[in-house]
Amino acid sequence: MNNLFNVKGKTAIITGASSGLGKHFAKTLSKAGANLIICARRMQNLEDLKKELEGEVHVLPLDVASEESVLNFFSEVQNLIGSADILINNAGTSDPKKFKDLDEESWKYVLETNLNGCYRVAKNFTDALLREKKPGSIINIASILGLRVGLNLTSYATAKAGLVQLTKSMALELARSNIRVNAIAPGYILTEINEDFFATEEGQSYIKNIPMNRLGLESDLDGILLLLCSDASSFMTGSIIPVDGGHLINPL
Ligand code: NDP
Repeated sequence: MNNLFNVKGKTAIITGASSGLGKHFAKTLSKAGANLIICARRMQNLEDLKKELEGEVHVLPLDVASEESVLNFFSEVQNLIGSADILINNAGTSDPKKFKDLDEESWKYVLETNLNGCYRVAKNFTDALLREKKPGSIINIASILGLRVGLNLTSYATAKAGLVQLTKSMALELARSNIRVNAIAPGYILTEINEDFFATEEGQSYIKNIPMNRLGLESDLDGILLLLCSDASSFMTGSIIPVDGGHLINPL
């Protein structure tokens, strides 16, 4: 039973590892014995993170919004290790705006990163596994906003809802190739990006909508991450798993 959540010796690609959740996922998987390929645009952040990690760690540049960058990234991965076993498809962004204030540029920026970028990375990762006839696990980082809506987040919620459907569609097709595709839908997790907002009166009153009456901590995602990365979830695919302190079930 102790080995149920074992990821020792597996190699995971983590996109958007230069800050926030991606950085935390890297630390968690490294402590659990996985080898890592950490990637993002801010290379110095990745180099700094590498110093904190154990095991084999490769640092590579990746801009998920650029097809060329994604192709270059996967050809580097191929040269380094062939193919990885796990993909944490985490890179994401947002540009909160009222719907009436949205413009083409803002809409495309969010969709390009959060949906097209995730598709591009997942497609190249899958192609490599299929080529080598290897099993794998893809973990898309969606959001509770892919399942419900919130004010001023139309482009973000639309992209995350697309990612939820991408997860299920890929899972359906790839199940017989032993490639599992699941998504984590986090609620609001306290990171450096939002800590100032949640310290305000508005932020504090927002937290009252969460049944557990608190924000999530990065460590609240450790269990689900290890579950989906390991053979403990060997019969799970196409699952979208909220980790949100009950936020999705708040009363109407
Ligand atoms: P951060 O802003 O801290 O991290 C986002 C990461 O994505 C950064 O490492 C950034 O790296 C990377 N990134 C952004 N754009 C690109 C790009 N074009 N190419 C490559 N990497 C990119 O936010 P979080 O850690 O909070 O968010 C991580 C994921 O979790 C996102 O998908 C987000 O939507 C999701 N999420 C977060 C929640 C939260 O409460 N924090 C709740 C629900 C979901 P760099 O700039 O160096 O490229």
